[in-house]
Amino acid sequence: VRINTVFIHLLLLIITMYLALQSLSAAEQWPRGNKIAISLSYDDALNSQLDNALPALNLRGLKASFYIVPLYDGFKYRIEEWKKLAEQGHELGNHSLFHACLKSIPGREWVEPSNALDDKTVQAMVNEITVANTMLTALDGFTEHTFTPPCFDQMVKDGNYVEAVKGQFVAVKSLEDPEFAAFIAPSDISSEQIIHFIEKQPPNIRLINVLFHGVGGDHLVTATDEHAKFLDYLVANQDKYWVDTYRTIMLAERSKLRQTP
Ligand SMILES: [Zn+2]
Repeated sequence: VRINTVFIHLLLLIITMYLALQSLSAAEQWPRGNKIAISLSYDDALNSQLDNALPALNLRGLKASFYIVPLYDGFKYRIEEWKKLAEQGHELGNHSLFHACLKSIPGREWVEPSNALDDKTVQAMVNEITVANTMLTALDGFTEHTFTPPCFDQMVKDGNYVEAVKGQFVAVKSLEDPEFAAFIAPSDISSEQIIHFIEKQPPNIRLINVLFHGVGGDHLVTATDEHAKFLDYLVANQDKYWVDTYRTIMLAERSKLRQTP
């Protein structure tokens, strides 16, 4: 009788531990059961994104996030195409109105003096980002958006403007916990190099941000065929990777955080 009792207690302990482990691993997974979410970004509203990246995404049924800058020609002359892209299920994201970056750090000769973050105030940036959100809502009908700070810069002359605007967003790229998210911004590299970056990530990384700029043209270019090969890899590995808009991914993350006691 005594051996039986010990045995039953042991069995109960094993079952409890098994269930605890199960719920732990389930909590780490995304809604579709994938281990890793992939957010494909296309920054700066470039012509080559509408011409080359968008058809490649649509051909494969992949959804991505486009961080637009209304000041730029690629946006202002092709507004109807950006609206249509949002109707197709892609995300239009906030990348500010004018793409202000710090001019006072090395390699920033291209930043126009009128658009240098070094000379802007937090309040001026809050206003700019707020208007950019209003414009996005007018374009796509969504009231919730995400933000990629231009150049990932945060500081202006009187403080940190990203901290001041982050409450307006579902999420801000570059502010995620580095234990949770990784970043790569391809520029003149092969699909194999991007894939290598993804595959070498430690197991705690659950979101990988791939931030493209030009695809087959414009600046920080990824060749059209390398971009296509990378998308093919994602499609071939859909059991591992959940590819979706950054807004959808981060809304899923937020609802999970709410459920956690
Ligand atoms: Zn940018």
